Amino acid sequence: MKAEPSAQLRLLELQEVDARVDQLRHQKANLPQTAEIAALTARRTETQGWIRDEQIKVDDLTAVQEQADRDVEQVKARRKRDQDRIDAGLIGNPKDLERMQHELESLDRRISTLEDEELEVMERLEQAQTGLAQLRSDLDEVDRQLDALTTEREEQTAALEERIGETGERRAPIVAAIPDDLLALYEKLRTTRNGVGAALLRARRCGACMLTLDAAELAAIRGRAADDVVRCEECSRILVRNEESGL
Ligand SMILES: [Zn+2]
Repeated sequence: MKAEPSAQLRLLELQEVDARVDQLRHQKANLPQTAEIAALTARRTETQGWIRDEQIKVDDLTAVQEQADRDVEQVKARRKRDQDRIDAGLIGNPKDLERMQHELESLDRRISTLEDEELEVMERLEQAQTGLAQLRSDLDEVDRQLDALTTEREEQTAALEERIGETGERRAPIVAAIPDDLLALYEKLRTTRNGVGAALLRARRCGACMLTLDAAELAAIRGRAADDVVRCEECSRILVRNEESGL
């Protein structure tokens, strides 16, 4: 393949622009916020699961507490009914009265036990409610961080896209100065060789694979016409020659 040396030199400019765009695209695809957002999203899901569990606990304990409250009220009502009958003098028979008083004592013990149980349930309920409130506050904090990170990521993405656009605009005038066949070869090499299609032969080394050319190779290149398109023996990329090539 043949191409004017000036056109070959423009390949180096194109390579620089393309490498810059590739680098910006890589940066855009690997923003640190993306990993942080993924980690926080996982934490959010986990926290939501804990909230569901804790809410079930609160609901269950609330039901137990309400039942305990009804039990206490029921026994208290029975005790009051008995006491009222005694106070109203409705129990005339001393034997009945004695039995009634025994029952009152038994009801008092029952009320005391039920109230202790209710108190214990209320303490557990309070703990569960505190835990639930803490988890909800954790979730709010995660959401706040997610919002901030998402905004940050959007801003950085927009800034990078702008730079990609600006850098890409430099491409058109360079491409216009490169013949189609040379450009096609460069593009093909770029897709198969890690984004690098052309490199400068500088101080006897390929600027892409960094291999130092031996004397025989250098002599062969020295013998080529200036408009010959030279390729690196090692990496096949286009080797552009200039006064720094060491030929
Ligand atoms: Zn090479």
